[in-house]
Amino acid sequence: MAIPTELHHVRGFGVDTFIIAAPGRPLTLIDAGMPWSPWPIRRRIRSIGRRPEEIERIICTHGHPDHIGGIPRLIRGRTDVSILMHPTDIAGLAVGLRHALRRTDDGVARRSRLLDYFTRTPASLEPIRDGDLLPVLGGLRVIHTPGHTPGSVCLYAERHRLLFTGDVLQVIRGRLTYANAFFSHDIGQARATLSRLAELDVETIALAHYPPWRENANDALRALATG
Ligand SMILES: [Zn+2]
Ligand SMILES: [Zn+2]
Repeated sequence: MAIPTELHHVRGFGVDTFIIAAPGRPLTLIDAGMPWSPWPIRRRIRSIGRRPEEIERIICTHGHPDHIGGIPRLIRGRTDVSILMHPTDIAGLAVGLRHALRRTDDGVARRSRLLDYFTRTPASLEPIRDGDLLPVLGGLRVIHTPGHTPGSVCLYAERHRLLFTGDVLQVIRGRLTYANAFFSHDIGQARATLSRLAELDVETIALAHYPPWRENANDALRALATG
């Protein structure tokens, strides 16, 4: 099975976004990249004959700024775009805001503006939970895989044997491996959660910061779960 034709992969400034553009249907994005990622994302949307205004839904694999930072510029104040995220990462954004208000260094200040944006538009934030089936790619199943962040999710399109992993997996020296320990909330949990992925039948793993992995994906996932 090849990558579905309605799926478009945007490599934007170190973090990837996936556009799902089924004929006659509004657009769904998986992750939204950095604050400056909307530029290549919008260009790609136009290159396939669609319009950025057709974005209906943005599914966030987790709440890190390199995955949600592009949202404000992408949706430009629209309130009819659904932002889907696991509730524990939604809660983390609110906690992060209170923390950010006590800090003044520039990095935190930028993060604060992003978090402020989300707290001003709570109506557009929709929780997604383990087992939810989203109506794209023939049914896209939410798998809660906490550890990198408490609310990290993977997304599985069974019809296409395609698994989106966000930052739950990475590639180091040509090998598929678990999440980056330094940037992860609980690396023990991040490793343990991989047993969920080993149960799936996967041909292609769509990673957030690396090219898609298509080499013996099932064996690689099972080796990670038992190793
Ligand atoms: Zn991350
Ligand atoms: Zn990331």
